[in-house]
Amino acid sequence: MISIIGAGPIGAYLAWRLAKEGENVRLFEEHPNIGRPVQCAGIVSKNIRNFVNIDKEFVLNTINGTRIYSPNGECFEIKGDKEAYILDRAKFDSYLVEKALDENVELYLGYKFLSMENGNLIFDRGGFKTDVLVGADGPLSGVAKNAEMFNNRKNLIGIQVRAFLDKETDFVELYFGEEFPGFFGWVIPEGKGICRIGIAGEEVSNNFNKFLRRFSPLKIIEKQGGLIPVYNKNIQIQKDNVFLVGDAAAQNKATTGGGIVFGLKAAKILSDCLIDNKNYEREIKRKLKKDLDMNLKIRLILNKFDNEKYNSLIKLLNQDKIKEFFVSNGDMDYPTKFGFGLAIREPRLLKFLF
Ligand SMILES: Cc1cc2nc3c(=O)[nH]c(=O)nc-3n(C[C@H](O)[C@H](O)[C@H](O)COP(=O)(O)OP(=O)(O)OC[C@H]3O[C@@H](n4cnc5c(N)ncnc54)[C@H](O)[C@@H]3O)c2cc1C
Repeated sequence: MISIIGAGPIGAYLAWRLAKEGENVRLFEEHPNIGRPVQCAGIVSKNIRNFVNIDKEFVLNTINGTRIYSPNGECFEIKGDKEAYILDRAKFDSYLVEKALDENVELYLGYKFLSMENGNLIFDRGGFKTDVLVGADGPLSGVAKNAEMFNNRKNLIGIQVRAFLDKETDFVELYFGEEFPGFFGWVIPEGKGICRIGIAGEEVSNNFNKFLRRFSPLKIIEKQGGLIPVYNKNIQIQKDNVFLVGDAAAQNKATTGGGIVFGLKAAKILSDCLIDNKNYEREIKRKLKKDLDMNLKIRLILNKFDNEKYNSLIKLLNQDKIKEFFVSNGDMDYPTKFGFGLAIREPRLLKFLF
């Protein structure tokens, strides 16, 4: 029996994959409903298609480009075709759980995991025996804490509003500068005149209010917020028969905080390991760690930028040869795939590394 704690997108996807291969799977979720509360801007790259069929049931909008603003207001625009999708997260999570249920996964809603002792799972309302325990229980993973794998992890705070805002519907806007320490501001159109406007960081409330004022007057529909794990290279993801995946393992892109595509990839790797009896840590090292580490490297460099550096970076990127390169090679998830080519086209970019 494999028990998965957390019916977010990663736990549900993992449950679905395992059950499809004939494993007995139980999926536990502390909330009474799937997908609520929503704590996500819901943008995923086209790479999501490697894991799920894009279904209009959960896709609200398709994105064809990004505008990146430097502190002095200069804009670097990258265009593409169906580069990213905007998800209705509650519907996306529900879709994945439905897929799991179709494969006979046992779903337990309203069960909060407390601990595991000698193969016995203890919830706030009863217990179960298990052979394998998977923590897909998000940034504050109780499974990681219980197995003493949480250590000194950090989370950022992400905060956003959904509001009516007149913006082009197929472009995402990103705002960089000292106003967004350790992160950036985003405006993501979900369609029907509604945008998700947010920022993330260690301290957000003052900067968030300041950011929102740029768009005032704003008719706010809803406020949302949550935690974004800060990836670091030392996070332990496996101990005996306990495994961590998704936000519980901080498998997010340190550049953007995005955790859905990498989390799904990690879940695919974990399901293959559990089925074929392979070492999860080693497979993650082989198939995902390089990109997690590269995103972290870029994040650590950006964290040192002041406004002047951002201004000169955007100026340097704003050349036709760079834009053309991005159109055919850019991949918002995997900088290792295009970083080298970018540096060859514009060697002055290398100075930002040091
Ligand atoms: C403001 C914000 C914006 C974001 N925007 C994006 C974005 O645009 N694109 C992107 O890719 N990512 C984004 N992310 C990150 C993304 O939301 C996460 O990476 C993703 O939700 C991870 O999925 P998960 O299944 O690992 O964890 P979660 O979605 O956190 O799911 C964990 C589940 O476990 C349950 N759980 C927790 N503890 C227990 C327990 N003890 N017992 C039982 N159940 C438990 C929770 O209720 C939850 O349902 C954003 C995050 C934030 C905060």
